Amino acid sequence: MAGVDAKLAVDRFVLDEEPHIRVVDHGVCASCESKPCVPVCPAGLYEWSESEGRMILSHEGCLECGACLLVCPHRNLDWSYPRGGFGVRYSYG
Ligand code: SF4
Ligand code: SF4
Repeated sequence: MAGVDAKLAVDRFVLDEEPHIRVVDHGVCASCESKPCVPVCPAGLYEWSESEGRMILSHEGCLECGACLLVCPHRNLDWSYPRGGFGVRYSYG
């Protein structure tokens, strides 16, 4: 393991079952041509499902960098930090 993967492997997460990021309207994602959230997420949490016609977003493993929120051209993300006590811990990395 090397590079980003090695660094991600030392992060620790306290999973909040309640997602702190949510796609507002999957129909908007369907018409979003470049889908920049997919390549920009350093943790690879966005995946467009052609068969389901929706964006699959796994909030587990989120690094809370905010990049997806910044690049979404349609402001189609409901984004907040995880609730207190949940989320990523960088103290091991
Ligand atoms: S950038 Fe925004 S609108 Fe486009 S696919 Fe991603 S979440 Fe959907
Ligand atoms: S905040 Fe960063 S790590 Fe979390 S989903 Fe968005 S781009 Fe990915």
